[in-house]
Amino acid sequence: QNNPNFVLMVEDLTVSFDGFKAVNELSFYVEPNECRVIIGPNGAGKTTVLDLICGRTKATGGSVNFKGHELLNMREDQIVHAGVGRKFQTPSVYEDLTVFENLELSYPKGHNVFGALFFRRDDAVKARIQEIAEMIFLQDLLEEKAAFLSHGQKQWLEIGMLLIQDPELLMLDEPVAGMSVAERKKTAELLNRIIADRSVIVIEHDMGFVADIATRVTVLHQGKVLSEGSMERVQNDPKVIEVYLGH
Ligand code: ADP
Repeated sequence: QNNPNFVLMVEDLTVSFDGFKAVNELSFYVEPNECRVIIGPNGAGKTTVLDLICGRTKATGGSVNFKGHELLNMREDQIVHAGVGRKFQTPSVYEDLTVFENLELSYPKGHNVFGALFFRRDDAVKARIQEIAEMIFLQDLLEEKAAFLSHGQKQWLEIGMLLIQDPELLMLDEPVAGMSVAERKKTAELLNRIIADRSVIVIEHDMGFVADIATRVTVLHQGKVLSEGSMERVQNDPKVIEVYLGH
């Protein structure tokens, strides 16, 4: 309860759809510099948990404490502003714009008197874009239109568009779906770099990839935590084995 060492504390989180509890009194917490991977069979409630945290779906009960803020009382845009970034499964980048322009558009606009329309392409912004581009392996493609990127490169660009907003918690839904083996390896490297100064929650099915990135794994089943801990621990948990192999 009073663990000071958490970024996100989820307690008794619940949502029902027509009486069906897709997420059922779920509790877990995420520490700083952690990559938490959520796994579980189809329909376990994984995507719904991320939807609840980012404010896309309204919870019917519980609490989500992010650095002292109750997220369940906040709108989706306020949650982004508080420092929670969410990436959905399909990449959504601006195809007609360059990599540089995509990153530039995502750079926080600040609150000057000119409002969001006024934009300074100053050296600090450029330096930040360069830094992010290197992190996402696109430093040599800054002037390339996003339309010409591979599927994997688009996924990285979208992660970059979130990173440039400097979120303290990043949530990714199946980030390596459709990626080549080489791209998966680089994505694991990227995630390991990201958690040097932030926390990540990832939904993932590819267990090889999970092993490369997870600080801890949470196994979800019927909207509840079935098992939690190191990859090794959950893999050897008889409850997990039964759910995955028992039907
Ligand atoms: P997972 O991501 O683990 O596959 P989901 O979170 O997508 O699972 O879904 C969990 C359960 O909640 C499923 O049975 C799904 O049909 C149901 N569900 C999710 N969103 C809604 C919704 N908006 N309305 C009704 N049922 C929903």
